[in-house]
Amino acid sequence: MLSYQHEYHCGNHADVLKHSILALTLRALQRKDKPLRVIDTHAGSGIYDLDSPEARRNAEFRSGISRILSAAAPPPEIEPYLAAVRASNPEAGTLRSYPGSPQIAHHLLRPEDHLELLELHPRALARLRRSFGRDARVHIHDRDSYEGLPGLVPPPERRGLVLIDPSYEVRRESAAVIAAVTAGHGRWPGGSWLIWYPLLRDPQTARLPAKLAATGIRKIFHTRLQTEADGYLGLRGSGLLVINPPYGLDTALANLLPWLWEQLANDARGGWIAEWLVGE
Ligand code: SAM
Repeated sequence: MLSYQHEYHCGNHADVLKHSILALTLRALQRKDKPLRVIDTHAGSGIYDLDSPEARRNAEFRSGISRILSAAAPPPEIEPYLAAVRASNPEAGTLRSYPGSPQIAHHLLRPEDHLELLELHPRALARLRRSFGRDARVHIHDRDSYEGLPGLVPPPERRGLVLIDPSYEVRRESAAVIAAVTAGHGRWPGGSWLIWYPLLRDPQTARLPAKLAATGIRKIFHTRLQTEADGYLGLRGSGLLVINPPYGLDTALANLLPWLWEQLANDARGGWIAEWLVGE
């Protein structure tokens, strides 16, 4: 049974990393005037109430999105993400609601684009249906992501991205991610694939970049944001791997990562990465 609930973590430094890159990637893909599809394999609840007891328990958003919103001189690379956050908080200067990956993608979706959301948790599914169920461009699947993904790639448009953002609750999740990406990339080598991984005390998930590089897949860009020192007991940082980044995304991420780190680091012994893991 699934126990992870993103409500407790929404808007933290890991969300800032993955959601800012999701928004930038989607915007870059939309430079071409052709329809695309976003596939979010671990969708979560879609939109998070920051006044809820769950979000307030550790208030992780205070050391995440709150700092980004109050930062002076934000670079242009953060703008697509900030625009989505502001759209969820129409009252100027407030932060009461946080957009998860489905809402970020939905905010950027054009009339001709589509969004596939896979989720297993009944409460998260109910929230997704409530927020997006009436939009014919959004397809909500009550389905295990690893079972459902093969039937969704390649999408009919042959353009778009897959976001893989598991909770890594089970030890074998990294292996499942690598297997899903290897098979999925084989079916859709031209898609952009965004794969998130956490930096935890258990070194298992930190090995994900090396495991992905070992698959032989080419064109992998690696970002990592470590806000705490090694040895920290909780989530000390996270990474996002981008297979087939759209043109110019590598340069944009090389500008974005040091700025994110300046805003979000709690310990100078952390650090950031924005570099090609595997080239052409
Ligand atoms: N992507 C979301 C966002 O950025 O707003 C957060 C997703 S959260 C980290 C992971 C989600 O995956 C949880 O809501 C969990 O219920 C769901 N999940 C876990 N295992 C799954 C599986 N095998 N198939 C589909 N969903 C799963």
